[in-house]
Amino acid sequence: VGQDEQLSAVLCDFARTMLTDFPIQSILDQLVGRIVGILPITSAGVTLIAPGREPHFIAASNEAALRYERLQTELDEGPCLAAYHSGSPVLIPDLHLDDRFPRFRAGALEAGLRAVFTFPMRHGDARLGALDLYREAAGPLDEATSDTAQTLADVAAAYVLNARARDAVVRSSDHYRESALHDALTGLPNRVLFHQRLDHATQRARRSHSVLSILFIDLDRFKDVNDSYGHRIGDELLMAVAQRLQRAIRAGDTVARMSGDEFVVLCEDLDDASRGELLAHRIVGELAVPFHLSEALVKVTASVGIAYSGPGEHVSEHLLSDADEAMYQAKRAGGDRHQLIDLRERTRTATRRSLEYDLPGAAARGELRLAYQPVVRTRGGEIAGLEALLRWDHPHRGLIGPDVIIPLAEQSGLIVDIGRWVLAQACVDRNRLQHDSPHQALQLAVNASPHELMRPEFQRSVQEVLMETATEPDALTLEVTETVYLEDSVRALLVLDDLKKLGVSIALDDFGTGFSSLTHLQQFPIDVIKIDRQFIAQLGHAPVSAAIVTSIIDLAHTLGRTVVAEGVETAEQHEQLAALGCDLCQGYYFARPMPVDDLAHRLRDR
Ligand code: C2E
Ligand code: MG
Ligand code: MG
Repeated sequence: VGQDEQLSAVLCDFARTMLTDFPIQSILDQLVGRIVGILPITSAGVTLIAPGREPHFIAASNEAALRYERLQTELDEGPCLAAYHSGSPVLIPDLHLDDRFPRFRAGALEAGLRAVFTFPMRHGDARLGALDLYREAAGPLDEATSDTAQTLADVAAAYVLNARARDAVVRSSDHYRESALHDALTGLPNRVLFHQRLDHATQRARRSHSVLSILFIDLDRFKDVNDSYGHRIGDELLMAVAQRLQRAIRAGDTVARMSGDEFVVLCEDLDDASRGELLAHRIVGELAVPFHLSEALVKVTASVGIAYSGPGEHVSEHLLSDADEAMYQAKRAGGDRHQLIDLRERTRTATRRSLEYDLPGAAARGELRLAYQPVVRTRGGEIAGLEALLRWDHPHRGLIGPDVIIPLAEQSGLIVDIGRWVLAQACVDRNRLQHDSPHQALQLAVNASPHELMRPEFQRSVQEVLMETATEPDALTLEVTETVYLEDSVRALLVLDDLKKLGVSIALDDFGTGFSSLTHLQQFPIDVIKIDRQFIAQLGHAPVSAAIVTSIIDLAHTLGRTVVAEGVETAEQHEQLAALGCDLCQGYYFARPMPVDDLAHRLRDR
């Protein structure tokens, strides 16, 4: 295909899909959407720039491109601005070899970008922004493709200018107010237009994995205004409210009047959910200032409901009704406030509910598993023990970790059965490993939740499991956290003493995260202290962590306890812990938690 033919095919395609009354955002979406299908690039993005204003129309063919566009806007640096200012293309066939935009380069390389080709969107001497073509492989863009891209950028510029002119005309004409898409009283987009915009925004958000939010605004006691001042003042108030709302929102947002005293704001591209709340604050603040109307000074307040969609495929059809629901919650709470429904929260709750429902049968269906993480001697590195860690292999949701399972199990009381299953399975597995490696003693660590530990029958249950599985009690260490003695320290002391009488050892897990009262260490029958991984992670970064770790180790040794460092991830951390005299280490640096068979291999290979 010759260059001219390629260009004309692209232009035809672009023009055909470009409806004459497309709004600016749709034009840009169309541009980046089509161009990736035609040119040899990974993704494309475009930003419109107006002198002296924040860039506010951005389009991107995918999430990565959106990130690169935003990066440039945030840093105020990059090929996009350079092409816009110079009016000439900026070609970077290999980002590694180009140091014109050092800050953009650093962020972009890290995100996987290797080449970028930027074309200014020109119209005569004016420039409207720039089109960025991104590629994740280095290499030049051939001349024909460059020409095509530049032509497309210029054509898109013409469409955008057209759309701007059209907007200006429409806005100034009476037609605007009578239009079927606008509210006659306030001139704002009406319900019909709002739904159109919402549809488009939803599609865009799904594609670019961005977050959408809707603010639903309802004036409190608007009826009182109508009743006491008459409808003319009521109408004046609504017009004034519309103006203030328009002042409060950002350039790319849409504010519409849904009916009566109901308004909605649609925000796209809210990367940070808290900004939606900021906007709600601003709106409530704007409306709090009394309205000077022709025959009255009127004060109003409003109830604002906010709903966020989760990013990407979680953008919901129900966003508007959720915002509406949130607004009613605000109203029920007395009005003059805003209320939030966060769909991401709701998704989490829904997931939790369904897991709650599935958990009781999980053990019976054989979905629970144990992973074992070796515990090694700090000096020498031999495996001295293993910790059993619970996993749930859920048929639909994949592998679920203990941070989800344990709280669910605790709330439902299932923790007792699950805990017993864990202990029994871990004993069986440990004994098999021990049988296969008779020359090294393997200490088994099993976590115990306070909810099981504090039950009267816990000690008996442990004893039964040890007998049934023929496990010597001194091979077992039960790991407990400090929460155990916070609730009822007198009882905790008795329980731990009873367990000690069985012959099992007790470890204090995650040491340093709770109240860490050092007196507890002395008071309670604790054999092992496990230093929480947050302190280990900061070794070498925060001097205070090294000091804390040092003093924990010293104190533990003074009291005759053994110390384990959790979460050892690097050689440096290991070295430092060795220098400090830490007895045992556990962490990804040595091994991740693994199925019992993998651990068997590892023990055999030694
Ligand atoms: P834990 O007892 O402190 O277990 C250590 C956790 O740290 C494990 O997470 C382990 O995978 C993780 N870990 C180990 N090395 C590293 C490392 O180098 N870096 C990092 N970032 N993490 C590391 P996991 O398996 O998700 O378990 C989380 C917690 O859930 C456990 O913390 C324990 O408190 C609890 N848990 C696990 N299994 C059970 C169980 O059967 N019963 C009860 N009651 N709790 C359990
Ligand atoms: Mg543990
Ligand atoms: Mg721990």
